[in-house]
Amino acid sequence: ADTLVAAVHRLISHADGARKLGVRTNADTGEDASRARRFGAEGIGLCRTEHMFLGDRRELVERLILADTEQEQEQALAALLPLQRGDFVEIFEAMDGQPVTVRLIDPPLHEFLPPLEELAVRVALAQERGQDPGRDKTLLAAVHRMHEQNPMLGLRGVRLGLVIPGLFDMQVRAIAEAAVERIKAGGDPKAEIMVPLVGAVQELETVRQEAEAVLKDVAERSGVDVPALIGTMIEVPRAALTAGQIAEAAEFFSFGTNDLTQMGWGFSRDDVEGAFFGRYLEQGIFGVSPFETIDADGIGRMVKIAVAEGRAARPDLKIGVCGEHGGDPESVHFFHHAGLDYVSCSPFRVPVARLEAGRAAGDASAADSR
Ligand code: PEP
Ligand code: MG
Repeated sequence: ADTLVAAVHRLISHADGARKLGVRTNADTGEDASRARRFGAEGIGLCRTEHMFLGDRRELVERLILADTEQEQEQALAALLPLQRGDFVEIFEAMDGQPVTVRLIDPPLHEFLPPLEELAVRVALAQERGQDPGRDKTLLAAVHRMHEQNPMLGLRGVRLGLVIPGLFDMQVRAIAEAAVERIKAGGDPKAEIMVPLVGAVQELETVRQEAEAVLKDVAERSGVDVPALIGTMIEVPRAALTAGQIAEAAEFFSFGTNDLTQMGWGFSRDDVEGAFFGRYLEQGIFGVSPFETIDADGIGRMVKIAVAEGRAARPDLKIGVCGEHGGDPESVHFFHHAGLDYVSCSPFRVPVARLEAGRAAGDASAADSR
């Protein structure tokens, strides 16, 4: 077994010598980041921040959602700030010296509230017993108010950041303050702040200006220069098609191929296999799900357009991919040929991504020399 492991290591090191693509990881905790580093990840390409609002922090998020006044909203955000700062300190520490792309909160806010049915039952039971349903009633009203038929196409990502004042600012402040803390402790944090679900440059520009003001404020207060890039996910088809405009406001792009596939095909990523795609596969209409391997003809075409337009507008634009496709062998080859700078995948897929990135580069040089 030892010789096999040694052989695999040799193969991967060989691939590392050849590959043009960087390989990062998707990680949301210091623990995941450390594990991925051991697998050879060269940074974090996607740190999803939404789990940081679950568990015992749910109550603070509920307070934020239910706030009637600006003051209540500010209090909830102020309580979340030190918790978020702690999250980022841990992650920067685990990925010291390597880039860490932190994505601002993405999913619909109502996901942080209890489900409608559960609340409705609790309220009905309390009323039947002649008790006051109290807070549950307020929560139920909020869930009703926020209900959407298609939440994945609704109030999430940048839209949420623009509608709930202070939410993104709080996260940016937490990132910046965590970076300052690490720098003061002798660390080397490399923060990249990523805005999700952008469809138009105006959305990104608004968030970018606010984020820059927060970064400046933290730098002035701490006396420490906070190095941070600001960029965007490209995961809404319109963003891919207007990438030239969007690049004016972005220092980097990261393709969210999960959403790009969902919106490009009009398939719900959560229902597709159960609903009908499983049968497509059974009938052999398709050999593989487009959520697994990038659909080069369609979704991939949007990727190529965005790379070309983005680089034409900003030649030094850094471009990566952080959807599930970033760890799929065939898709890694596609991203190599599309000229991306890096792929980002789950920690366990990092070795395979390194290997395939090396093979893709090797294939390309073999093809060039023919
Ligand atoms: C994506 O859409 O590809 C992505 C990486 O973001 P998420 O899966 O969190 O929507
Ligand atoms: Mg997405």
